[in-house]
Amino acid sequence: MDIFAKYDGLKAAIAGLTQNTPRSPFDVVIERPLSATVGLIEGRETLLFGTNNYLGLSQSKAAAEAAIATVREEGVGTTGSRIANGTYALHRRLERRLAEVFRRRHCMIFSTGYQANLGAISALAGKDDILLLDADSHASIYDGSRLSHAQVIRFRHNDPSDLDRRLGRLKDHPGAKLIVVEGIYSMTGNVAPMREFAEVKKKHGAYLLADEAHSFGVMGEHGRGVAEQDGCEEDIDFVVGTFSKSLGTVGGYCVSNLDGMELIRLCSRPYMFTASLPPEIIASTLAALDEMQARPELRHRLQENAKRLNHGLHGLGLNASPHVSPVVAVTLDAVDQAVAFWNRLLELGVYVNLSLPPATPDERPLLRCSVMAAHSPQEIDRAVEVFGQVAKELAA
Ligand code: PMP
Repeated sequence: MDIFAKYDGLKAAIAGLTQNTPRSPFDVVIERPLSATVGLIEGRETLLFGTNNYLGLSQSKAAAEAAIATVREEGVGTTGSRIANGTYALHRRLERRLAEVFRRRHCMIFSTGYQANLGAISALAGKDDILLLDADSHASIYDGSRLSHAQVIRFRHNDPSDLDRRLGRLKDHPGAKLIVVEGIYSMTGNVAPMREFAEVKKKHGAYLLADEAHSFGVMGEHGRGVAEQDGCEEDIDFVVGTFSKSLGTVGGYCVSNLDGMELIRLCSRPYMFTASLPPEIIASTLAALDEMQARPELRHRLQENAKRLNHGLHGLGLNASPHVSPVVAVTLDAVDQAVAFWNRLLELGVYVNLSLPPATPDERPLLRCSVMAAHSPQEIDRAVEVFGQVAKELAA
C-alpha cells in the first residue's frame, strides 16, 4: 500500500491549480525584506500587504539589538524544555512582564502561538468536559481540542445567540464548559462580539478563552485586544496570544487569574515536551513589548491605515470584509479567478495572501490583505490602485 495514496486527491488538486498559475501561491519566496513594507520577490521590489507584522516591529532596531546582545551573552538556544533544563531567568521575566501587561496573576509562554492554543486547550479541557468552538476557529484551536479528548461542539461564527442555545441544551452536563473565540479572525478580519460572548458565558457558568493573536497590540486603548476594547476583560478567563504578529518575533502565551494555571505547567504536553524559546527571542520580544507600549501612535496609525485600505477596496466595489480591522479580505467567487487575480497583483508589485477552500469560510477563495502601521498613505493608495487595475483587466 502506497503510504501517500491518501493524498491522491490533494495531488490532483495541486496539479489542477498549478496548471493555471505561473507561480505557486504556496511557494512564494520573500528573497529579502528591504523594510517592514517592501520585500524583494522574484527580484522585484514588492509592496508587502500580506504579513502579520502589524506594528512593523519585526524590523525594530531595539529588538534586533536586544537579540544580538543576548546571543552574545547567553548563546543561541536553550536545548531543553521549560520543565527540564530550558527555563532561564529571561523566560520568567517575560512571563512576569506579560502577566503585568494583562493585569493577571499567571502567564505561561510557549514556543509558538500554535503551541499556546494546543497547550492551553488540551490541558484545560479533559475527556469529560465540553469545548464550544466558533466554527471559524484557527487550526491550532481545533488541534488543541483533539488533543484534549473533550467533546467538541461548534457554534455559528460570531453568533452569541447560537452559543447561548447550545449551552442551554447542556445545562445538565456535569463537565466543565470552555468557550473558545478569537478577537480578530485571521482570514476574514472579522471582529468577535466579545462582550456578548462574555454575557453568554456568565449566564451559563462556562469558562471563556479568547485568542487575541491578531488583536494584541492592535485593538483596545493599551493594545490588549478586543476584550479591552469591549470593556469585558474581567470576564475572559484565559487570554491566548502570539509574539509572531504585532510583536514581530515568535512564540505564544496564555495568561489568566485562575491559580489552577500553575498546575498546567506539569500536564500540558506542548509546553512540557518541546524546547523552550531561545534567549535572543525572549530578549527581542521584551524589547518589542517596550516599543509597543512606548509608541501608542503605532496603533493609532494602524487604525487609520486599516480604514484607508478598507474604504479603498470597498470604493472599488470589491466584496471586502465589513469590519474595519488590519486584515481586509476580498472574497471572490471562483478559485481560477482568485488565482489569476493574485498573480496579477504580484506581477504589478503587490503581495497579498491567496487563501483557498477548504481553508476558507463558506468555501470561497479570499485575497487576504493586511495593513501595517508602517505603510505610508501612498503605499496603501498604490495597492488599492493596483487592485482596481486588476479587477478591470479581469472583468474585460
Ligand atoms: N491563533 C490564531 C488566531 C492565528 O491566526 C495563528 C497564526 N496564524 C495562531 C494562533 C498561531 O500563531 P503562530 O503562527 O505564532 O504559531
